Amino acid sequence: MAIERTLSIIKPDAVAKNVIGQIYSRFEGAGLKIVAARMAQLSREEAEGFYAAHKERGFFKDLVDFMVSGPVMIQALEGENAVLAHRDLMGATDPKKAEKGTIRADFAESIDANAVHGSDAVEAAKVEIAYFFPEVKA
Ligand code: ADP
Ligand code: MG
Repeated sequence: MAIERTLSIIKPDAVAKNVIGQIYSRFEGAGLKIVAARMAQLSREEAEGFYAAHKERGFFKDLVDFMVSGPVMIQALEGENAVLAHRDLMGATDPKKAEKGTIRADFAESIDANAVHGSDAVEAAKVEIAYFFPEVKA
């Protein structure tokens, strides 16, 4: 089994709901270790840069508006197959389609306000961890 790192963001809706601790418990329960963390109010520039891959999508402006609407909690997680293990904990992008017991099924309202971000591949995780934690090994 490969030890990997992945980038997680608890989005403004979940921070506002006061469920950071409940989400952290799920990471820990799944054997994912928090190796870096910080709370931040993203600027538009930071949010646009982070989601640059989506900039041609119709939902890009709404996504950026949402990501700057309040503080986010950003963390790097480490563990066995961390990228996939974390995506499994998150559930599907649309909470209506997310499996019961996943973070999005339990805490998210809509595809726009869907509680969490997680890297989708090891290479993406490296870029995303370096984006928010330049001092940390990706
Ligand atoms: P994920 O966050 O599950 O990796 P994507 O990378 O496809 O999903 O999209 C990034 C984010 O953009 C999603 O988490 C969601 O907040 C938003 N998003 C994706 N698809 C849509 C959509 N069809 N309508 C509105 N927002 C969307
Ligand atoms: Mg994605």
